[in-house]
Amino acid sequence: MPKPLDHRARNREYDQRRGSARERGYNSRWEKARKTYLMRNPLCVMCAKENRVTAANVVDHVIPHKGSTELFWDTSNWAALCFHCHNSTKQREERGRFQAVDVDGWPIG
Ligand SMILES: [Zn+2]
Repeated sequence: MPKPLDHRARNREYDQRRGSARERGYNSRWEKARKTYLMRNPLCVMCAKENRVTAANVVDHVIPHKGSTELFWDTSNWAALCFHCHNSTKQREERGRFQAVDVDGWPIG
């Protein structure tokens, strides 16, 4: 006997996951702030250190904010990174505490 509510229940679960990410500070205010930041800081700072010119598409928190709104919104704690640097270099640096993000800067998983 198929369960017709299964699909809807899965969608609800997904919404809740997205919702909790937004509650942690990844909301429309962040969306605007990171766009403005990337306009002013269009190049990846990690690539720049290695004399590579790469467009940044992720705003990274240099010191992991771990839910601290003060650290989260402190622009001096922000760094413009490209995907590659964010998802590989940061992962090495932070090991288990790493949060991968998608193209729009949303946490994955
Ligand atoms: Zn880079």
